[in-house]
Amino acid sequence: MSRILPTVVHLDADAFFVSVEQALDPTLRGKKVAVGGRERGIIASASYEARACGVYTPMPSKLALKVCPDLILVSHGHGQYGPYSRRMFDLCESLTPLVQRNSIDEGYLDLAPCGFKTLPEIETRVRALQQRIWDDLQITASFGVAANKLVSAIASKAHKPRGFTVVPPGAEAEFLATLKINVIPGVGKKSEIRLEAAGIRLVRDLFARTETELQDLFGSTWPEVLAMARGEDDRPVAVDEEDAKSYSTQETFSRDIADFTEIERIAKRMIDELMPKIREDGKRVKTMTVKVRYPGMEDSSTGRSLTEATDLEAPFYPLVKPLLQAAWTKRRPLRLVSVRFSSVETKGGQLEMFGQNEDKQRRLAAVLDKLNERGRKSVVQHGHQLGRQPE
Ligand SMILES: [Mg+2]
Repeated sequence: MSRILPTVVHLDADAFFVSVEQALDPTLRGKKVAVGGRERGIIASASYEARACGVYTPMPSKLALKVCPDLILVSHGHGQYGPYSRRMFDLCESLTPLVQRNSIDEGYLDLAPCGFKTLPEIETRVRALQQRIWDDLQITASFGVAANKLVSAIASKAHKPRGFTVVPPGAEAEFLATLKINVIPGVGKKSEIRLEAAGIRLVRDLFARTETELQDLFGSTWPEVLAMARGEDDRPVAVDEEDAKSYSTQETFSRDIADFTEIERIAKRMIDELMPKIREDGKRVKTMTVKVRYPGMEDSSTGRSLTEATDLEAPFYPLVKPLLQAAWTKRRPLRLVSVRFSSVETKGGQLEMFGQNEDKQRRLAAVLDKLNERGRKSVVQHGHQLGRQPE
């Protein structure tokens, strides 16, 4: 594969949850900060200062406080990560329409449609995006620019935080050669130890091996491993509509909850939390997925779709109970519940499909959204109001 310009960008927000907390409370900047549950929780994100003190993710919070007694532990209760993530990716979409979100804080951009002519032009535009994310959101992200996904993803991690690494086409193998072998996807902790014992510590150590030796080390996948070590990858940046545009929220409980009614109430509240954002974005959603987690990180989830996409709370309420029953099959208390809406459609064109009653509900919902915007927590919850509306 030969491209003249490196048009694939990987961006990865630096210590994302902590960065958002620092954006919300700048007094946390430059300090040993971590986001995680206090009681029996784990560290979900740690500032670079906290990492220097020995805090990593995922690590039990208790242990983190032991190795770093002056750690400032912030619980993830603000519900702001989703909105910050969306705003970050919206900024990316102002540069190129081809954005693949991999997770809340990380994704790929393909600049091919932008028509940039030179490498300096690409650099300038991507640096401007990095700056814009900082200016608008006060969070930092690291960028890798290369000819393909594999190399850009490795490049974005090469100099964190606030990293900016460009690998010109043709220089992939040279860039990877001196990096540790664990940059190759699939080489985890276990393989790393095994490979190191065999004298392979850096990517370039692979090139000194014969085919037979490589076969012994990696089995039948050795040609793929070798291709990756050379920086070869032809996967396209895939804009996954459903993943790119989904709305979700989750809550980790400070104590495990066994009461079905309580979980049902929390899940309904999540619908009430998410739907105003969906209306605000001018979207409708069709599919709801409920995920539950037992202590010990074991997840189970089920989803169901409506026949029509909607931006109202009420049509999803009746799904909560059956979805929860289907997901929560083990008779054990839960650690976490999450609700996600997907199959996102943009409003417009289909308005005539909706009856008058739904129109009325939508107007009421809009009024409630406005009231809630003003930050009056005492305002009646959407759910309870709309829940009583006739279908
Ligand atoms: Mg990150």
